[in-house]
Amino acid sequence: MSSCVFCKIIEGTIPSHTVFENEDVIAFKDIHPAHEIHYLFAPKKHIESLAEFKANQTDVIAQIFSAIFTVTKKEGLDQKGYRTMINTGEGGGQEVFHLHVHVMSGKRV
Ligand code: AMP
Repeated sequence: MSSCVFCKIIEGTIPSHTVFENEDVIAFKDIHPAHEIHYLFAPKKHIESLAEFKANQTDVIAQIFSAIFTVTKKEGLDQKGYRTMINTGEGGGQEVFHLHVHVMSGKRV
């Protein structure tokens, strides 16, 4: 079993508040939200970070952003506005080494 916390969420061995899931991508609430809305979108395939990203994995980025477009549209965030962020590596503030995109909206909390 993987020691990666997001892989455990994907496997269902640790709980999460999932807001979206399909064959390729999962999105769940950040456990320490920085804004009223703070979701994390991650590929189900374990990729450590953008720095580990391979040229033949561009489909993963399309899948993640397709999920982001679906969820933000469904929740009206496309009208309200939202911020996306990807931290890469220790110098980029990455804490969980499973590629993910932060989606944040609303007041800081
Ligand atoms: P990053 O700094 O980009 O690696 O962000 C990792 C994010 O994952 C942080 O904002 C954490 O609050 C969040 N996080 C860590 N563990 C969990 C968890 N079990 N469920 C939800 N979010 C988590």
